[in-house]
Order: sequence, then C-alpha cells, then structure tokens
Amino acid sequence: MIQIYNVTKIYPNGVKALTDVTLRIRKGEFVFLVGPSGAGKSTLTKLLYREELPTRGQIIFNGKNIVRMRSREVPYLRRKIGMVFQDFRLLPQKTVYENVAFALEVTGASPKEIKRSVPAVLNMVGLGEKAGVFPDHLSGGEQQRVCVARAIVNNPVLIMADEPTGNLDPETSWELMKLFLDINRRGTTIIMATHAWDIVDAMKKRVVALSGGRIVRDEEEGAYRYEA
Ligand code: ADP
Ligand code: ADP
Repeated sequence: MIQIYNVTKIYPNGVKALTDVTLRIRKGEFVFLVGPSGAGKSTLTKLLYREELPTRGQIIFNGKNIVRMRSREVPYLRRKIGMVFQDFRLLPQKTVYENVAFALEVTGASPKEIKRSVPAVLNMVGLGEKAGVFPDHLSGGEQQRVCVARAIVNNPVLIMADEPTGNLDPETSWELMKLFLDINRRGTTIIMATHAWDIVDAMKKRVVALSGGRIVRDEEEGAYRYEA
C-alpha cells in the first residue's frame, strides 16, 4: 500500500532529516516507528500526509505517486489517512459530537451520513454517552479517544499516530492500544511513532527503527531497544 523509494528530506535550513529511506508497508500492517528524538519519525509521517515534500525519492500511496500529485488532489489523499496526535488537537468550542462531525463535514458528507456515522464511531471508541460534552471536561484518555474517533470516521485506509500515548498514563495507554488493535483487525493499516518501549515490546508487531534519518532496523514481531 505504501512504497517509499530512496527518500531524502533536507529542510530549508539544511538539516538532513531523512537519508535514502526505502520502506514498503502492506495493507493491514501494524507498524511501530521507533528511534531517538530527531531520528526522522515525524518527518516520515509528514511526507506520507504530504505536509512536506521529499528532496529526493518517490512515495507511492495506494498506487499513486504522492510526490507528483497536484495540490488539488491532496485533500483526497488526506481523506484516506486518519491522524492521531500526542496533544489531541480537538476544537475546544465544539462538543465531542461536533468535533467528529466536523471531520466529516469538511469532506462534504451529507447530514444523513453524519447522523449515521458519528454515533457509530463514538460507540466504537466507548464515548457514546459523552457526545454532548466539551473536550476540556474529558480526561486525557477520553480526549485521545475523540481524536481516534475523528481519525476513523472517514473510514481511512491508514491511521498515523505520532506519540499518541505521550500524554496518557499507562492504563489509559493500554486502552488506546486495544482500540488501535481493534481498528487494525478491521483492516486499517496503522503506523505509530512512539517512545513507549513497554507497549512496543508487548505488542510484537513490525518495528521500523530510525536513527539519524536512516532505517537501521526493520523486524516483524520486533522489539524496541535503541541502537547503540
Ligand atoms: P523525530 O520525529 O524522530 O523526533 P523529526 O522528523 O521531528 O524527528 O526531526 C528530524 C530532524 O529534522 C531533526 O534534526 C529536526 O530538528 C529536524 N526538523 C524537523 N522538522 C524540521 C523543520 N520543519 N525545519 C527544519 N528542521 C526540522
Ligand atoms: P456499526 O456496525 O454499527 O456501524 P461498528 O462498530 O462496526 O458499528 O463501526 C462503527 C463505525 O466506525 C463504522 O461506521 C465505521 O465508519 C467506523 N469504523 C469502524 N472500524 C473502522 C476501521 N477499522 N477503520 C475506519 N473506520 C472504522
């Protein structure tokens, strides 16, 4: 589903964030991206979302070269990708329901579709009873589940999560991981950048390790362990 070929990313300030990265991810995979701060994990995520363009190399997503893609096609790409952030990024003036509905509205979904889908995803993430609540009246774990609901409501083929458990306690983190596993079992590919070594070690999923902008390890049923 994702093919990254010899991608190098040099930011305008001269920082080389990725060097000659080649990576293939199949549909339905669950992939942990690990590596120290500055290794290039976020940059890789941004390239897939086309928030940044590579300096060299190609990226194929669902058969389409997203480097050469026209800007007017970018919204269609992003609709296929659900993003989950460490800091949730919910709209504080909107309720839980409205936050999730908004993600559908911007894609041009009909009111009927919204009325059908939003309660369904809120139930799926266990927030059916909190639809009318504003984000700052929710716990961190609940806010993160709203973020996940918003990410899956468009039925994306890929979920990308950047340090999603970074602001959660251990128990809540595990609840989030169970939710990700559930979403993954339904066929959605998941790429999760994380420092949560205990989660990575327990889940026994594919681990891609970056260090200094290069892939230094890629293992099925991998473990965390930083490279020396
Ligand atoms: P990670 O997510 O693994 O911490 P990043 O992809 O954020 O790594 O960063 C990789 C390198 O690129 C770091 O040296 C970082 O300082 C640099 N970097 C990231 N974003 C930018 C940017 N927008 N402009 C310049 N340098 C950046
Ligand atoms: P229902 O069968 O009542 O629709 P589900 O729990 O099967 O309830 O799913 C609820 C909604 O969550 C679905 O309508 C779908 O939009 C969304 N959903 C469920 N799983 C996924 C998934 N893996 N990826 C994306 N969206 C999903």
